[in-house]
Amino acid sequence: MRLGLIDGDGIGPEVVRAARQVVDEAVSAAGGAPIDWVPLLMGHRAIEEHSDPLPESTLTALDGVDAWILGPHDNAAYPAEHRTAVAPGGAIRKRFGLYANIRPARAFTGIRATAPKIDLVIVRENSEGFYADRNMFAGSGEFRPTEDVAMMVGVVTRQACERIAHEAFRLASARRKRLTIVHKANVLPMTMGLFRDVCYEIAHAYPGVEVTDEHVDATAAHLVRAAADYDVLVTENLFGDILSDLAGELSGSLGLAASLNCSATHAMAQAVHGAAPTIAGHNRANPAALQLSSAMLLRWLGTRDSKSTLLHAAERVERAVAATFEAGIATADLGGLASTSEFTEQVCARVHRR
Ligand code: ATP
Repeated sequence: MRLGLIDGDGIGPEVVRAARQVVDEAVSAAGGAPIDWVPLLMGHRAIEEHSDPLPESTLTALDGVDAWILGPHDNAAYPAEHRTAVAPGGAIRKRFGLYANIRPARAFTGIRATAPKIDLVIVRENSEGFYADRNMFAGSGEFRPTEDVAMMVGVVTRQACERIAHEAFRLASARRKRLTIVHKANVLPMTMGLFRDVCYEIAHAYPGVEVTDEHVDATAAHLVRAAADYDVLVTENLFGDILSDLAGELSGSLGLAASLNCSATHAMAQAVHGAAPTIAGHNRANPAALQLSSAMLLRWLGTRDSKSTLLHAAERVERAVAATFEAGIATADLGGLASTSEFTEQVCARVHRR
């Protein structure tokens, strides 16, 4: 198994190293062959070495690996000439057709959560919607005709709605069998109406799943009040981005929020959080989000290739992270005292336990 490893910016190198360590440990504990890691550049270091935050050499190398782990990028801090382009993460998602972004949020024993019973998954459409930097074939859907006027185009297509709806219904079928379609069709009846209606059409193929729909503003309020009511939510790109930060915080911290970007053929582990530049380099970042994202990646690979060692490795990572929290070990964002590396050592030790 060859996996790409992209550090990115800010806390990226710290959390990517921490994810790699637990993956190596878990794969070994599960009896799998060692991962062949392929380190690749993105972000500030790529600008220094290649004058490009996402060099072609990185993209070409990604063609040759099974999947990859992506650290966060801090594109808002890039030199002006590199800031206008599509953000690196978006460019990668677009190039490899990673149309689904699966973002679970769950509470852990030992971690104080605003929503202690939260256990949901946000299935975010990842290729179009209101993400104007990547919803066009060429150019950007965001533009500025005059100095004082800025505009953006949202795109919703039947094909993208169908494939994300299937993804969400499959997931709901394997969980508590409840799916909420999140939209804003009351003010955007054509775009969001299409999204909602196509999701309902796909529902006919999954009669065992109970489906409802909500306006995104109602969902935001309901998440704060009763997050435990939700099982799987399927939504548009920008809504999914915002709601998953909220869900992550409700579960204890954004530093817990894992995510997988995928299609039927490609997958990328990427935490929900960003580069957190204010804590970068201090060994304080919570690595759990990327470790749990990497577990999702192992599960995706294990399912695709019918490799039980990878499925077992994924389970080991998830259990070890949960057991570490249960033992009262956590990083500062969760009120704990552990550094990034101490937390990771504790997870690695627990990966071997049955
Ligand atoms: P992006 O738009 O790229 O997602 P952002 O502007 O939403 O980035 P983040 O970098 O995610 O911002 O940071 C938001 C807050 O959460 C900051 O206070 C940051 O320090 C904190 N944070 C984010 N990730 C972590 C983490 N892994 N561990 C600890 N704190 C984190």
